[in-house]
Amino acid sequence: MRKYKIVRIVLIVFALSLLCLSSCRKAEQTDIPQQVYSKGTAFNGNQSNGGRCQKVGDYLITIGNSDTHPIFYSIDTVNDFCAPNCSDPTCQHTSYKCPAFISNTSQSPMVPVQDGFLVADANSVYKFGLESKEMVASGSYGELGITNGINNNLAGDFITYFTEEKTLEVKNYKTDEIVATFEDCEPSRYGAGNVLYYDGYLYFCRNDAQLVRTNLQDGNLEVIVPSKATSIMIYEDQLYYANTTSKQVFRAELDGSNAQKVVDRAMFFNIKDGRIYYSPEAGPEIFSCDLNGRDIVQLTKYGDFPDGVGGIYLFDDCDYLAFTTYNFSKLYTVDLNGEGWKVYTFEQ
Ligand SMILES: [Zn+2]
Repeated sequence: MRKYKIVRIVLIVFALSLLCLSSCRKAEQTDIPQQVYSKGTAFNGNQSNGGRCQKVGDYLITIGNSDTHPIFYSIDTVNDFCAPNCSDPTCQHTSYKCPAFISNTSQSPMVPVQDGFLVADANSVYKFGLESKEMVASGSYGELGITNGINNNLAGDFITYFTEEKTLEVKNYKTDEIVATFEDCEPSRYGAGNVLYYDGYLYFCRNDAQLVRTNLQDGNLEVIVPSKATSIMIYEDQLYYANTTSKQVFRAELDGSNAQKVVDRAMFFNIKDGRIYYSPEAGPEIFSCDLNGRDIVQLTKYGDFPDGVGGIYLFDDCDYLAFTTYNFSKLYTVDLNGEGWKVYTFEQ
């Protein structure tokens, strides 16, 4: 009898240790890097510009067109060297394991984390670094891939994606749980990065670029901008966005009140250290102004950059702005005073 009791205790201890092991493993799996940003630059500013460039140490990592398909290039901004973000010279950059390979499905913008950035596609969330890549979460994140090829977005702990039933699903990718579903939502066709999670609220654009926000607790949607909102970002607790038609940039309180125009025309814009950097057309001129649209300075002039501007990127720890060209064949950097520009051309 006593022997059976010991066996039972041993079995219980064994079962408990198994339970602990599996829960320990689960805790490890949810250890996903957090989105980082600095007070000096706008929150979501780089993602709202298409989310195609991030800074990792002294390197810029950006999406460029190679001979066959878009891949990640890493640019050594100290030694002025540009190459695929992959250390294997024989690699064709077509496998999921390759840190230059992005995805076969539509992907999210690049979201900055410590020492790298996150990118989500239809099935996975990856952390990329300099010549490195690891999967940090997997699940089912939507397959539509319409509207500029971008369907899903990463914001805080959440991944958002539109479904064929015209709903927006919000999933916590750390737990793989759907935390909210919103009806009457079709993707806004005005580009990537039109979703952000800030101070407890999820902001996103739907349908004809209507900007809404929700606290995810009660599931109620508050309409902030009735239509035509794009390039949403937050700087010093105020919301900035552009009008999809007029391209005017507006600043408002986080609930959308007190909206006022600050820039007359901006195809792309971004904010750093109290100044707005913008290009009125797809290029090639770039200007800066203060947060009220005054004190306008021209950084680059017509003819400097014949390929046009495809997004303006700013980082807290460097004195240049980076911009990709419209056709993703090159990346330029220009000092914030408009001097010392450099060009990097993508080659295999
Ligand atoms: Zn490779």
